[in-house]
Amino acid sequence: MSNTTTTEPVDFLTEPLEIQEFRLRVREFVDKEVRPRVAENDRAAADDFDWELVRKGHEADLMRLVVPKEYGGLGLGVLGVAVALEEIAAACAGTALIFGATLLGQAPILLSSDPSLMSRFLPLFSGDEPVLACNAITEDQAGCDLLIPENAEHARDVMQARRDGDVYVLNGRKRFITNAKVAEFASVYANIEGHPGATGMTAFIVPLDTPGIVRGPVADKMGYRTCLGSELVFEDVRVPAENMVGGEGNGVHINIQQMNMARATVAALSTGVARGAFDIAKKWCEERVQGGVPLYKHQFTARKLAEMATKIEASRLMYLSAAQAADSEIPAPVFQPAAAKLFADQVSIEVAQEAMSLMGARGYLRENGMEKLLRDSLGARIYEGTPEVLALAITESLYAEDDF
Ligand SMILES: Cc1cc2nc3c(=O)[nH]c(=O)nc-3n(C[C@H](O)[C@H](O)[C@H](O)COP(=O)(O)OP(=O)(O)OC[C@H]3O[C@@H](n4cnc5c(N)ncnc54)[C@H](O)[C@@H]3O)c2cc1C
Repeated sequence: MSNTTTTEPVDFLTEPLEIQEFRLRVREFVDKEVRPRVAENDRAAADDFDWELVRKGHEADLMRLVVPKEYGGLGLGVLGVAVALEEIAAACAGTALIFGATLLGQAPILLSSDPSLMSRFLPLFSGDEPVLACNAITEDQAGCDLLIPENAEHARDVMQARRDGDVYVLNGRKRFITNAKVAEFASVYANIEGHPGATGMTAFIVPLDTPGIVRGPVADKMGYRTCLGSELVFEDVRVPAENMVGGEGNGVHINIQQMNMARATVAALSTGVARGAFDIAKKWCEERVQGGVPLYKHQFTARKLAEMATKIEASRLMYLSAAQAADSEIPAPVFQPAAAKLFADQVSIEVAQEAMSLMGARGYLRENGMEKLLRDSLGARIYEGTPEVLALAITESLYAEDDF
């Protein structure tokens, strides 16, 4: 196999054969199941959910990519997830995030190395019916403060966990949680009562049918409309102590490790959005004739296309390298995933904007799909670390000898 174009990656050097074959399988799934539904799902009401698409994704094994083989998964690691998310996001970032958020919900279980948690929750993803998970961190008063360890003491009104015998009682409210409306369980971060701010942050695995949990209204987002982001309200929710991950107060640590894995996959998702926009613009620049020649023959346009393709290639190489580092180093490194995400998030916005401008008025029409890609391009720089949060993590790691 060799590269067909810069936007259809298949590369011996950066992807093992198993991953290359898997990428092509996901691409087939995307062409058959995702692309035909993109426009309809984008225009649906904010709380509509395409369970049929999720079912097809489940049949394509997308729920269990990172689950180890001994628990019924594919064991493809962060690299497998990243490659899948690039492929799906090239058509629809919201669909990619349905699967991405499920893998995020699984991450604390994997990081726990706790055989009881792993055997209770991970086999769920290999059953006959699709099971979704979610990862609940963000709150109304505490956003980035929950992602920057130095700011944990300043976090306000954070969800509380109180020990009561063999259970923890959770009270509070999470916001913007992808899949919360449709997931079977959540990884939930709560502060152990008595600790200032979020300094007692602790992770719990919580089945969402536990009494006291209310799934709140779905947010009406400008992009990523195929996936649902909603509130999760906890009122005296009793969670068995055995569902705690990593011990009291270890939530900050678990969350950092989880973000270091996840950021490589979000960088891949952003690369996919950029590639989706580029592919439409590239085709257009071949077909559209102005000044007697196809647009791409004009030097200004050629320069733009070349720069866009170069950025996408760089973005892809960065996420592949970050994902492989996350799979091979324990704990996953800070620098590479954060740098890959910082770069790819920016590339997806720049490429989507440029791609739209290359299409003139056609790019501005909903029917050509470009405006959806532009809306979606703005989403990834918010979750799993804004540019400011990433900059802090990257710079910290530059001064920490053991990471860079
Ligand atoms: C599509 C989408 C999906 C999401 N999915 C999930 C999910 O599944 N689970 C979940 O828990 N959350 C999710 N979120 C929420 C997301 O993680 C948060 O929105 C994000 O962490 C930022 O928090 P905030 O919105 O409260 O912004 P704030 O924390 O209020 O930040 C606002 C601005 O201030 C800047 N800022 C904040 N602190 C600092 C600082 N110390 N230094 C410099 N600048 C700073 C930020 O960079 C940002 O630009 C999702 C969001 C989106 C858009």
